[in-house]
Amino acid sequence: MATPIPTTKLVIIGAGLAGATFSHLATQHHIPTTIIEKSRGTGGRAGSKRLSCGGIDQGASILGFSDEDLTDIREHLLEQNVLQRWQSGYVGTPRMSSITRYLSSHAELVTETKVQHIERSYDDYWLLRDDKYQPVIKAEYVMIATPALQASMLLATIPNTSTLLLQANRAGANTLSQWVMWLRTSQTDAAPLQFSVHPSLETLIKDSDKPGRERQDDDLWVVQASPEWSQTHLDSDKAEVQAALQQAFSEVIDCEVYEAGEPHRWLLGRQAMPVSSSSFLWDNQLNIGLIGDWLCQGDAEGAMLSAQYAFDYLRKKVL
Ligand SMILES: Cc1cc2nc3c(=O)[nH]c(=O)nc-3n(C[C@H](O)[C@H](O)[C@H](O)COP(=O)(O)OP(=O)(O)OC[C@H]3O[C@@H](n4cnc5c(N)ncnc54)[C@H](O)[C@@H]3O)c2cc1C
Repeated sequence: MATPIPTTKLVIIGAGLAGATFSHLATQHHIPTTIIEKSRGTGGRAGSKRLSCGGIDQGASILGFSDEDLTDIREHLLEQNVLQRWQSGYVGTPRMSSITRYLSSHAELVTETKVQHIERSYDDYWLLRDDKYQPVIKAEYVMIATPALQASMLLATIPNTSTLLLQANRAGANTLSQWVMWLRTSQTDAAPLQFSVHPSLETLIKDSDKPGRERQDDDLWVVQASPEWSQTHLDSDKAEVQAALQQAFSEVIDCEVYEAGEPHRWLLGRQAMPVSSSSFLWDNQLNIGLIGDWLCQGDAEGAMLSAQYAFDYLRKKVL
C-alpha cells in the first residue's frame, strides 16, 4: 500500500528569514505548519557556514531591526538569547542562523527537499512535489518564501497565477549576484564593520568581533565584494576571485592572512529594488501567497516585515 502523503493546514516554502518568521507567527497561533527547505539547514541568505576553525555568517552580517512592527519579535529573540546588539544593529548568537533555527523550531521542518511543482490534489488540497516529481505534502494554504526568481518558477507550475507570476518575474529581473569569502588573520584592532572602503568591496566584517564568536589567537573576517564588482566577475573562476578579494582586503586592513576560504557566489544575492507596492502578495481564490525581501525593503529586516504584514492580514481574513 502507498504511504499516505502528509497533510497540513499551512505549508511554507523556504526557511529564510521570511519563511521562518511566518512560521513563528503561525505556530504561536497554533496553526499546523510545515516548512519545506531545499538546503540542509535554515537561514537562506541569513545563514551561517561551518568551518573547521569555527563558523561565519556568510550572508546577512547585521540586521537593522529598527521598525517598530518588529518590536515583539526582536524582544522575544533577545529574551531567548538568540539575538544580541552589535555595532549599529543586531546579530544572531552564536550565529546568524540561530535566528531562523529558533523561529522555525515549533513548525515541522523538512530539509534537503526542493519543491518544484504545486498542483491541485483530487481532494482539493495543494499538493507539493519535489524535483523528482515525488509528492512531499498536501496543504490548504501555501506561502512561498523564496527569492523572486525561484518563486516565479514555482508559480509557473500553477494555472491562473498570472498576477503573482508577473510581479515575481519583474522583481527577479532586479536581482544582483554577490561574491563573498572569509579570511583567518592575525588579530587586529581595525574597525570591525567597514563599508565601501575599496572599489571592489562592499563590506568588511570582522565576524570574530560579534558577540559569542570571540577568538583567542586570530580573527575571522568576511569579505563581501560590491554588487558591481560581482556582476563583472560573475563567471570568473574561484581562484581568480579569491586572489582579487584577498588583495583588496590587504590593501585596507594591515594584518597577516593565515587562511583564505573558497569564495561563495550568491547568485540571487540582493534585491536591487523591490518593485511591488505591497509588502506581500496573497491570492484569495487560490490561497497562495508570496513573502520575502524582494517585496519589502530588499534586506533582512524587510524579509521579516513582509512575513509580519502577511500574517497580520491572513490572521484577520483567512486563517
Ligand atoms: C552576501 C549578502 C550579505 C547581506 N548582508 C545583509 C546585511 O548585512 N543586512 C541586511 O539587512 N541584509 C543583508 N543581506 C540581504 C538579506 O540576507 C536578505 O534580504 C534576507 O536574508 C532575505 O530573506 P528571505 O527569507 O526573503 O530569502 P532567503 O534568505 O533567500 O530565503 C529563501 C529560502 O528559500 C529556500 N528555497 C528557495 N527555493 C526553494 C524551493 N524550490 N524549495 C524549497 N526551498 C527553497 C532557499 O534555500 C532559502 O533558504 C545580504 C545578502 C547577501 C547575499
